[in-house]
Amino acid sequence: MSFEISVKRISQSRLPDVDFNNLPFGRTFSDHMFVADYYDGKWQDYRIVPFEHFPIHPAAMALHYGQAIFEGMKASKSLDGKPLFFRPEQHGIRINRSAHRMCMPSFPEDVFEEALHQLVAIDANWIPTDPGSALYLRPYMFANDEFIGVKPSNTYKFIIFTGPVGPYYPKPVRLLAETKYIRAADGGTGEAKAAGNYGGSLLPAKLAQEKGFDQVMWLDANEFKYIQEAGTMNLFFVIDGTVVTPDLSGTILPGITRDSFIKVLKGKGIPVEERPISTDEILQAFKNGTLEESFGAGTAAVVAHVSEIQIGDTLVTLPPVEGRKIGPMLKATIEGLRDGTGTDEFGWVIPVRELSTATI
Ligand SMILES: *Cc1c(COP(=O)(O)O)cnc(C)c1O
Repeated sequence: MSFEISVKRISQSRLPDVDFNNLPFGRTFSDHMFVADYYDGKWQDYRIVPFEHFPIHPAAMALHYGQAIFEGMKASKSLDGKPLFFRPEQHGIRINRSAHRMCMPSFPEDVFEEALHQLVAIDANWIPTDPGSALYLRPYMFANDEFIGVKPSNTYKFIIFTGPVGPYYPKPVRLLAETKYIRAADGGTGEAKAAGNYGGSLLPAKLAQEKGFDQVMWLDANEFKYIQEAGTMNLFFVIDGTVVTPDLSGTILPGITRDSFIKVLKGKGIPVEERPISTDEILQAFKNGTLEESFGAGTAAVVAHVSEIQIGDTLVTLPPVEGRKIGPMLKATIEGLRDGTGTDEFGWVIPVRELSTATI
C-alpha cells in the first residue's frame, strides 16, 4: 500500500448503551469514522477516529452550493459470525461517477476499499446479528472551501460513518404517479447520488403523503409519461411473467440492488427487460389482468413491495404479496448472500479482512 490510514481509538465504547432489539433506522452511530481531506490537489490525512462532531465554517461551500454526494451500503454478519460486504467496489465506483457529475475530485478506490475494511473490522461488534439486520455504511463527500461564490471548491472532506440497523420489513407501499413535480430531467443530476436531488424531492413526497400515499412514483420531465423510480428505490414490474424495469437513461439512479436483481434473474433464465415503461403500459396490463407484481429495489429494504399505484384517475391495485414469486425470491436471494447461507455465484460477497496486528 502506498498510503497509510492512522487509527485513533475511542477510549470507551458506546456499545453497552445500545439496545440492539430496538434500532430505529439511521439514529444509532458506531464508535469510529473514517475521514480524509482534499487539499493542495490531492486526498490526504487518511484517518480513523472516534465518531464525533466536527466544526464547519459558516461559508463552507457545500452548505451554499450543494457540492455534496453520498453512498449507502451495508455490512452484515454471516450466521457463523463473519463480517461481510456486499459488492463494496461498486459503491466506490459509483461515488466517483457522482463526484464527476458534481465537479468534485474522485476518491482513490483502493483507499475507499481499505478504509471500509479497517473501519468495519474495528467496529465489527456493532454489526447486528439478527436476520435481516446490518451495519449501514454512509460514505459521503462535500465541498469545504470557506468561500462565497459559485465555483468548484478546492477543498473537500470524505467521511465514512456507520450505524447498526434492525431488520427492515416495510409494509407494502402505495405510490402516486407525480404529474406536477419532477425528480430528474435529461442532462440533469438524476443519475448522481447528489444531496440536492433529495432536497428537491421532499415537498412532492410530503404532498403525496398528505393524500395517503407513501411515496411518489417519478415520471419523465418531458411528457410525464415514462416511469423513473420511487423515493430512493428503483422500480420493477412483473407483466405476464416478464420482469421489466426502466432503463438507465441518465435520469435514474443506477442502483446496485437493481443491477444485482437483473443479474440474478438472467442467471435463473427469468425474462427481464430494461426499457422505457409508460404509465399507459401499466394501466393496460392492470386492465387486462397481466400486472403480477411491482416492487422497489434498494439497499435499505432490498425489496419493498408495491400494493397500489395511483395513475391519473385510476387506482392500480396489485395482487396480494402472499401470492408473489419474483420479489420475495429476489429478497431471499440477496439476504441469503448477506447471511452467508446462499451460494455466491457472482462473487459479490467480500469477507471483511481481519485487522493486521499493526492496527489492533
Ligand atoms: C440509492 C438510491 C437507489 C438504490 O440504489 P442501491 O444501490 O440499490 O441502494 C435508487 N434510487 C435512488 C434515487 C437512490 O438514491
